Amino acid sequence: MSAHPEGARPGVRPVRAWTIRRWPLWELSHRLTLSVLLVEATAIGLVIAVSVRMPVPHALQLLQAAVLVGLGILHTEIAIGVERVRRRVMVGNHANLSSVWTFAGALVLPPVCAAAVAVAVHLHVWVRTGRPRVPLYRSVYSAATIVLACLGAAVVVGFLGSGPEPLAAAGIPGITLALLVYTTINTGLVAGAIAMSAPQPDLARVLGRWDDNLLEFATLSLGALTAVALVVNPWLVLLALPPLVVLHRAVLVRHLEEAASIDGKTGLLNAVAWHAQAERLLQRDSPADGPRGVLVLDLDHFKAVNDTHGHLAGDQVLAAVAGAVRAEVRERDLVGRFGGEEFVVLLAGPAAGAVGELEAVAERIRGRVATLRVEIPTPDGPLTVSGLTVSIGVAVAPAEGADLRTLLQIADTALYAAKRAGRNVVRMGTPPGSVPPVASRQGGEPAPGTDWMVDGE
Ligand code: GH3
Ligand code: MG
Ligand code: MG
Repeated sequence: MSAHPEGARPGVRPVRAWTIRRWPLWELSHRLTLSVLLVEATAIGLVIAVSVRMPVPHALQLLQAAVLVGLGILHTEIAIGVERVRRRVMVGNHANLSSVWTFAGALVLPPVCAAAVAVAVHLHVWVRTGRPRVPLYRSVYSAATIVLACLGAAVVVGFLGSGPEPLAAAGIPGITLALLVYTTINTGLVAGAIAMSAPQPDLARVLGRWDDNLLEFATLSLGALTAVALVVNPWLVLLALPPLVVLHRAVLVRHLEEAASIDGKTGLLNAVAWHAQAERLLQRDSPADGPRGVLVLDLDHFKAVNDTHGHLAGDQVLAAVAGAVRAEVRERDLVGRFGGEEFVVLLAGPAAGAVGELEAVAERIRGRVATLRVEIPTPDGPLTVSGLTVSIGVAVAPAEGADLRTLLQIADTALYAAKRAGRNVVRMGTPPGSVPPVASRQGGEPAPGTDWMVDGE
């Protein structure tokens, strides 16, 4: 028996955990691995192809490239604390603020120099803020997408702007087109990778939210101004730094607000945020707006999913179920993750409809979950989890006004009755002392119950 942990012997270097065969890249699905390698190979191939035909850059261009790399590094160093926190709390897609420097490079430098600026700035960001949370392959992929975006934008400027000052010749239309090409290539390739890796990709997740895209647009606009400054006088570029650092801080505040209210696994509101927003919604809407209700959902035998496929697969199932619930309700209805494999929905306001309609929504959700097929990429090919079911308890708010705590208690009691009734069932709860409304419909076998809060028993 070795006295050394993991069998390491004195004088023998242990095998490093990141030998090529153990790269996290190989843990992706074959399709995704191949796409990642293809994009990276294309970026490298195009850079080589362009560089062999490129005239040697002159001194001013080298100085401009050095200024951009220097400022990119300075920006990362100044904002390092902000960026590290941002990466820790970030949910979903995130805009890359370094594109101020890379896009400016694409507008004023020869394509290969612009690509070199992008790689240098990106590498520095990864070394200082990405490691070890962000695997290298992801950073290399995003550097490759930015190199391709830079090449695309540089081609636009080169094509539309000729003469000694291509940027001035390209003018506003040229810069706008370059911006569109840059963002389309970059967003398109990132969206493609997300779509291939997400179990149930939806458009909002793949393309990012509108405010993320707005931030990307603001960053690229600042990049365009930086490029103009660079042409006029390289020292002017320093002026881009303070607004960028302020922008970076503002973005962190937004990410912190989101992180405090959003459940990271499902993207739904967390329990605390759901409570706060549900209270506000119930107080704001008048009961005359129509019956409102609360659904409490609990996945049936979810422990078996974890036991069979593992917790990571279980997490992806939770995300897919969250997407299914969200898809069956309106934008203004509040969907939250209550904890574990439990979800909660507040159906509020006009046209939540009659009592029967609340029940119909719950039935739709139950039906959708039952037909859900969650594709989970694994190194051995996709794994499909199906046959999921959910039990749902429904509480209908009384016309004279609703108290959230009572509604939740009623829905929760109805949920337990649904479980006792055989699961995969919707049960309508009724407030104490009231006449039970419509009889509940069921997807599973009904069983006699005794709970006074649940109708149909
Ligand atoms: P029932 O039909 O009675 O609801 O059975 P169940 O197995 O769903 O209920 P139980 O409460 O016994 O188990 C819930 C399981 O949910 C156990 C726990 O491992 C799992 N779980 C809770 N939170 C998470 C999570 O964030 N990710 C994963 N993968 N599993 C979770
Ligand atoms: Mg549970
Ligand atoms: Mg459960």
